[in-house]
Amino acid sequence: MRKRIAILGSTGSIGTQALEVIQQNPEIFEVEVITANNNVDILIAQAKKFQPNTVVIANPDNYKTVSEALKNEHIKVYAGTDALNQVVQMGPIDLVLTAMVGYSGLMPTYNAIKAGKNIALANKETMVVAGEIITKAALENKVEILPVDSEHSAIFQCLVGEFLNPVEKIYLTCSGGPFRGKTEKELQYVTVENALAHPNWDMGAKITIDSATLMNKGFEMIEACWLFGLLPAKVDVIVHPQSVIHSIVQFEDGSMKAQMGLPDMKLPIQYALGFPSRIKNSFPRFNFLDCPTLSFEPPNTNIFRNLALSFEAMGSGGNMPCILNAANEVVVESFLNKKISFLQMPAIIEKAMQKVEYIEKPTLDDLIQTNAETSRITKLLTEN
Ligand code: MG
Repeated sequence: MRKRIAILGSTGSIGTQALEVIQQNPEIFEVEVITANNNVDILIAQAKKFQPNTVVIANPDNYKTVSEALKNEHIKVYAGTDALNQVVQMGPIDLVLTAMVGYSGLMPTYNAIKAGKNIALANKETMVVAGEIITKAALENKVEILPVDSEHSAIFQCLVGEFLNPVEKIYLTCSGGPFRGKTEKELQYVTVENALAHPNWDMGAKITIDSATLMNKGFEMIEACWLFGLLPAKVDVIVHPQSVIHSIVQFEDGSMKAQMGLPDMKLPIQYALGFPSRIKNSFPRFNFLDCPTLSFEPPNTNIFRNLALSFEAMGSGGNMPCILNAANEVVVESFLNKKISFLQMPAIIEKAMQKVEYIEKPTLDDLIQTNAETSRITKLLTEN
């Protein structure tokens, strides 16, 4: 029987690549649900091509366009965030790929877990905002969370067959982004266009900015702690500009396992969708002689403050990582809209972390509240 997949965020970078993987393996996968927020044309084209059972357009303003375009297909069309939360609970879904951007991934992911659906997690913000609640819900509902993020996929692949062996340390590799080695002075005047030009990975705008500020790596540290049950002190970030080693696990005997490959998201996507099987493919292979040097250096947390702020937030626990994420979403948007500079982003996040009320043991409702309150306060901070 084919694995029936729901893709939340099917028109983004991860979503479209997941559909490529599915298209190449029609005997293994079928598409049950696809969803998008505003990318109507791509969503309609995907629906016609993959013939899912259901399509959800999260922004209700787009409902008419989508339902009109698909009226002659045997496809159900729904709109709104409530529909998004309900559709993940549908009976025939085997695996939910969460590939939407930011905080919006939280509730659909939570509802999918509550409905007992296995998760292929590409939305790391869900784990940043509510890692404790999500991992607890997954345990209670016997749900597997399979990482899609390349670093976490690497760690997961290194751990297969080793789940009973304690981990001594994880080395989370980091390309360093487009501004690796730059001084604070040089960073003062970098533009949105500079920040969007990632040297190794082709990704959506939000994560590309997060990669340039190293917030992405901070989020990934938090994600790794929750996915693999580790304290932040066991996660080291190491800059590896070639992005060939996707992360490393060090065991208690000092032995280290690394997972390597070309920087292509289709590989970790396919691994998560196909787990526990590896699926034969014709993706380009890594050639050692094309890349004779693999190098490593420490990250500069004095300049890339977001990484230090992430360790601080995870150290504080409670709703602090949620504050970190919500403040980051606002500053990234402001930066993309050219309202604030590159270096203002961490400065404003730090202020938001000081201003929003700290809650030691937040409920899901507390986190929803924290997210809204942090957005409000951070917007004010970006205007001053
Ligand atoms: Mg990553």
